[in-house]
Amino acid sequence: MAAIRKAIPSPVSVALSRSVKFVSDLLLPRRCIACGEVVESEGAFCASCWPEIRFLSEPLCSACGFPFEFDHGVDAICGACHREPPLYHRARAVFRYDDTSRNALLAFKHSDRTDVAPAFAGMMAQAGASFLAEADLIVPVPLHRRRLLSRRYNQSAILALALGKMTLVPAFPDLLVRTRATPSQSGLGAKARHRNVAGAFALRNDMAKKILDKRVLLIDDVMTTGATVLACTKTLLAGGAASVDVLTLARVVRPASD
Ligand SMILES: [Zn+2]
Ligand SMILES: [Zn+2]
Repeated sequence: MAAIRKAIPSPVSVALSRSVKFVSDLLLPRRCIACGEVVESEGAFCASCWPEIRFLSEPLCSACGFPFEFDHGVDAICGACHREPPLYHRARAVFRYDDTSRNALLAFKHSDRTDVAPAFAGMMAQAGASFLAEADLIVPVPLHRRRLLSRRYNQSAILALALGKMTLVPAFPDLLVRTRATPSQSGLGAKARHRNVAGAFALRNDMAKKILDKRVLLIDDVMTTGATVLACTKTLLAGGAASVDVLTLARVVRPASD
């Protein structure tokens, strides 16, 4: 009997960038997500903000995606991952979290600028092309339902759904849930952040079996210390996921991670 093969477009990256272009052609954001200027070209950022965005690219720590100044080889890992290997398999982000990208993320999170989701998801599809080629399903970091009510949407779920649409990897926006409302992570140190989110996530009972032996791609908007994605990874692995990769739009890059 002929083996049933998953139809994987070849090469994947070409197909991804085509669909990215297709989606961004359809949904042109009218204003720059970072500064609010009217944009004439396609994409989320205007011509003056675009060069300010610090995209993260190789060489990177093969585990957490921390950017290296020099190329240390394909499997090189950073000092932090060496000291304490992360629970997730790999993590990547599109750009650095800094003044310019912070404005973009705040607008995306709080100002109904969900129109830029396809452009952002397109960038994530490129940064995480190898993760997406292997992923069985996409799961976003959830908001607690109380916060969801006040904010009206979960920016990570919107990114996950846009990515799923673009790549045909199924996305499950409510597979992970927050079992308790955690205070905002901002202003907390690394240890306090870990304590704050420890045990705050669970799998929705009726969906838990979807992740059994599956490779999960976890989506969030920003990775700061990694506390939130680690807590989610713990829940997914404890629930039987085969592996967890993490893809975020931005990540904080601290200078000292030798
Ligand atoms: Zn701008
Ligand atoms: Zn690392």
